[in-house]
Amino acid sequence: MNRIYLDNAATTALDKDVLDAMLPYMTTHYGNPSSIYSYGRETRMAVESARKMVAKLLNVQPGEIFFTSGGTESNNTAIISSIRDLGCKHIISSCIEHHAVLHTIEHYSCDDSITHSYVKLLPDGHIDLNDLEKQLAAQSDKCLVSLMHANNEIGNLLSMKAVSDLCRKYGAIFHSDCVQTVGHYPIDLKRIDIDFISASGHKFHGPKGVGILYVNSNLQIKPLIYGGSQERNMRAGTENVYGIVGFAKALEHANLHYEAESSYIKSLKDYMISQLQEKIADVSFNGDCNGSSLYTVLNASFPKTEKSEMLLFNLDINGICVSGGSACSSGASQGSHVISAINKNENRVAVRFSFSKYNTKEEIDAVIEKLKEII
Ligand code: PLP
Repeated sequence: MNRIYLDNAATTALDKDVLDAMLPYMTTHYGNPSSIYSYGRETRMAVESARKMVAKLLNVQPGEIFFTSGGTESNNTAIISSIRDLGCKHIISSCIEHHAVLHTIEHYSCDDSITHSYVKLLPDGHIDLNDLEKQLAAQSDKCLVSLMHANNEIGNLLSMKAVSDLCRKYGAIFHSDCVQTVGHYPIDLKRIDIDFISASGHKFHGPKGVGILYVNSNLQIKPLIYGGSQERNMRAGTENVYGIVGFAKALEHANLHYEAESSYIKSLKDYMISQLQEKIADVSFNGDCNGSSLYTVLNASFPKTEKSEMLLFNLDINGICVSGGSACSSGASQGSHVISAINKNENRVAVRFSFSKYNTKEEIDAVIEKLKEII
């Protein structure tokens, strides 16, 4: 059976040119970047060239880029550093963040010394910026604002600039989980005054287990992992050299081909919307799918029936890989905290379709045909 993969917000296929760039660092160039002889010098050079490339693409200084093990570690680091090193006593976030943010905030605000609150959401799932301003104005303690650039389940995009302006007005630290946008949009951090952003390689055809944390050079933070002097004493441990090389290559590729790839993927999303509306009764969409939204994500809502309750499972046995939300594995929906936050209707079933450059219109036609049978 030919499988159809429409879960690219969960992870993406590694690009061939990314693999080619990584392979020498898995084979012949295996030196430890901390070694001073030639083997070490060549891998040190690879890590630092990758850092320069990433910094150039995000328009920041190389010293502001720290390589991590991915989005989860970067989110944890930004939040922990804000509390521990930057004096933040109150965290403002939203209840539709990824668990890598939500669970970290919940963990660190379990005693009275650190508190947290969530901003209100508008009916379409966007952040209510008036409420954010009200909350910032009411706080006497220093705040961390952690709001994701794009929601991984419904695709809504945040105006980082608008949030950054509010954070600067009220003296708050601003972190944004950009895991679904770095590698999908050109991001110029010179135009947004921000303290931390997180990104992850496997969301844009790079390798798994590698990400970055951008840390604004105005901040003084302590190391998160102690040990050797890697990452300028900030994150000890021998570098994931081939992962770092792959991350930079994938980001370079994404930026080079942004226009063509994003418009192709957007055409797939638009086609899926029109086909669903034409061929599936009573379909609706979660989030602001035709407005300020990722071109890669479409969250569809179907009426709950005996058949549609088993939708993810039935799609899976037909070789169609989609998800019900980030915490769900196909076939075993545990419900999504994002969908329940924006739409409490128990009589609907949500399915996230997420697209990449490797998907085709024919695949969408095949999925629609299957949906007609199994809904
Ligand atoms: N943040 C968002 C918005 C995500 O979609 C993900 C991945 O699912 C993460 C964080 C976690 O990233 P990683 O898998 O690199 O730890």
